[in-house]
Amino acid sequence: MVNYLVNKLPEYFKPGIILRKKRIIRFLLAFFLAFITYQVILEIITVEIPIFGFHDIVDIRNLQEVPPQRRDFPGDYSQQNLEPFLEDLVSHNYWFLSTQELYEYFIANPKKPVPSENRGRKKVMISFDDGNKSIYTHLLPILERLENKYRKKTQVVVFINSGFLGHQDSLIKKVTCQDLRDGMQKGFYDIQSHGLNHENLTKISLKALDRELSEDQIRLRKCTQDLDPNQIVASHIAYPFGAVNKQVDKYVAKYYKSGYLYDSLKLKLRFFPPNKYRISRLTVNKKHSAERLSSLASGSWLHKLIGKK
Ligand SMILES: [Zn+2]
Repeated sequence: MVNYLVNKLPEYFKPGIILRKKRIIRFLLAFFLAFITYQVILEIITVEIPIFGFHDIVDIRNLQEVPPQRRDFPGDYSQQNLEPFLEDLVSHNYWFLSTQELYEYFIANPKKPVPSENRGRKKVMISFDDGNKSIYTHLLPILERLENKYRKKTQVVVFINSGFLGHQDSLIKKVTCQDLRDGMQKGFYDIQSHGLNHENLTKISLKALDRELSEDQIRLRKCTQDLDPNQIVASHIAYPFGAVNKQVDKYVAKYYKSGYLYDSLKLKLRFFPPNKYRISRLTVNKKHSAERLSSLASGSWLHKLIGKK
């Protein structure tokens, strides 16, 4: 089109237009190169920590655990896909961060050097919400198998509503205090809070909000008292439904060091420490294949090239 118009113009106009075209092309090229350089630099300085948020784990070979015998929940994930995903991470020597490690080395004090055994390792956090029984019956055996095979301990975060501990009558059975103690004693569970009764913290009275936060911490710590001398249990919280606001922040800060969202984003650390009460997590559901999760964990091609902190 431009060439057509140029051809239509009188001869004495053409050199100026061609010059202008060249200038535009040069400008676009320079802009494109600057943009690519900016993106590359941004990638290099960014520390990406994918935090995966799972819910219930189902054994799809067991007819009792699939429809029509059992209601279909969007957040369900199969044990058959979870195992290869976790195995991929363990075999590639990922550092499975606990909430306290993330807080200590990357949020509260990003300049603090990480322990030498973890230097250069890719980072990931695997979390399970709601304290469903499957974190004991379906997840723990996977972690034990992986430990036996690779001689590496894999720690996962379990965000628990202590108000439901031991509930057998709800649609999904819940873990007991003893289950939590067992997983913790074996070194697999990092036990953290998900509120006492899974209330939407932004929609309850201030009195109820305070109770949801304080009472969950009290009960989880009581359950694990003798195993947790430094009171690491219930120091961090994942907001039920990912719901939080400024008002909730004020109350959460009284009891917890950090708070986790459920916003389908990867935690990216750049120039400034992130808001410790808005830690992003990736949502996981049955539509994600094990391969898809592995690729989300490994990040962009540049991150695969660069070793970080
Ligand atoms: Zn939940």
